[in-house]
Amino acid sequence: MREAIADFDYLREQRSGLGTAAVIVMDKSTDIIKAIWRLSKFYKHESCGQCTPCREGTGWMMRVMERLVKGEASVEEIDMLLDVTKQVEGHTICALGDAAAWPIQGLIRNFRDEIEDRIKSKRGAAIAAE
Ligand code: SF4
Repeated sequence: MREAIADFDYLREQRSGLGTAAVIVMDKSTDIIKAIWRLSKFYKHESCGQCTPCREGTGWMMRVMERLVKGEASVEEIDMLLDVTKQVEGHTICALGDAAAWPIQGLIRNFRDEIEDRIKSKRGAAIAAE
């Protein structure tokens, strides 16, 4: 188990953040890929559409996240998704773009193995069914 101090500066040093200081508690039974997809869905819904990276990026990120949840994406799409988050991050009028990008970046940084395992097991099941 990794411990962290709930402090803006400390969490920034850990490449994380306190955000608005709202906390969601999840245990190990949580499907972390699905949890981040749900955040993506929220940000896509909340995007006002004023700036292109957010308007287009939030929808694109949510759709790829949906494919990751189902294990239907390819492994290469993980880095494509990461690239898109970086095109959204820092390129929008308000902070919603960053807020949409950061959870996905954190997911890929900390749970890439889990994402890849899901894709591989889905592919393995599809091949076995042929
Ligand atoms: S970043 Fe903010 S201003 Fe730009 S489209 Fe998203 S919600 Fe609207």
